[in-house]
Amino acid sequence: MRRLVLMMCTVAFGYGLGAGATSGIDPSGASSAPLPVTPAATEPAPATPPPFDPGGPCPTNPAYPAHTEVIVLAPSAAGYGDIQYPRTPLPPHTVALTFDDGPWPGTRGDQRVFDILEERCIQAVFFHVGTMIEQRPELVREAIRRGHGVASHSWSHPMNLSRWSDEAGQAQIHRGFVSLNAAAAPGVAEPFFRFPGLDDNPRLRAWLDREGIIVVGAEADADDWKQISAAEVHRRAVANLEATNGGTLILHQIHPRTVEALPGLLDDLNRRGYRFVRISARPTQPAPLTTPPQSAR
Ligand SMILES: [Zn+2]
Repeated sequence: MRRLVLMMCTVAFGYGLGAGATSGIDPSGASSAPLPVTPAATEPAPATPPPFDPGGPCPTNPAYPAHTEVIVLAPSAAGYGDIQYPRTPLPPHTVALTFDDGPWPGTRGDQRVFDILEERCIQAVFFHVGTMIEQRPELVREAIRRGHGVASHSWSHPMNLSRWSDEAGQAQIHRGFVSLNAAAAPGVAEPFFRFPGLDDNPRLRAWLDREGIIVVGAEADADDWKQISAAEVHRRAVANLEATNGGTLILHQIHPRTVEALPGLLDDLNRRGYRFVRISARPTQPAPLTTPPQSAR
């Protein structure tokens, strides 16, 4: 089922900013300022990439492989994610996990999700909100250290970005990347952007493509921003992925129902034969999983 999800994060954050709420941003300088993201790799991709090596069983959960395969997304002006764009080029029956709206400034959410994923040797991509990053920048670095991708989900998560002026919209997006890169270190973040509420417009999408940013939507979501139970989050995620034979899945680690649902959801998908992959703009080897120091727990 194709549904345009409208993630009501305004409720969670109390944002609901309009264009006039971008005080402090200088829109006049936005369009000329290059986005501070990593340039695309200059080395040509090998003609035949080596086959994925799952690396044996995951040491902490042998039901999973030790490595998460990286699927490289090429630059595309059209974006990826067939809720609204062309389908993400993933192998059939694979799932690319993505988590939006963090890092959460409290103690719930990110750390527990990191542990749930690491116990299963799964790596994901976290689409972070700039205002949240500024409260918990260490969680961006923690995601990277655990082998996840980090990407931008705007500066303040406006739910009506498609209706902003080009200048204000570009400034909003640019500021989100500045915040992300300040936390992640230059060249580390993925050049991925997900529109809040998937509310985009063609002009901003074309501008992002010119800036070397890939717009990432999704094939499936789980309605986990709604007031539904963890069991229902699980059910909807599986139903939507089954309907699309896998794809990129949107979840939100900031909601307790999502954290509660996640272990059972992952194990259910694994039993159903789905493989977990991580989308990236760069061909990379799977990052080694390391045991975090006690101080980072
Ligand atoms: Zn969001």
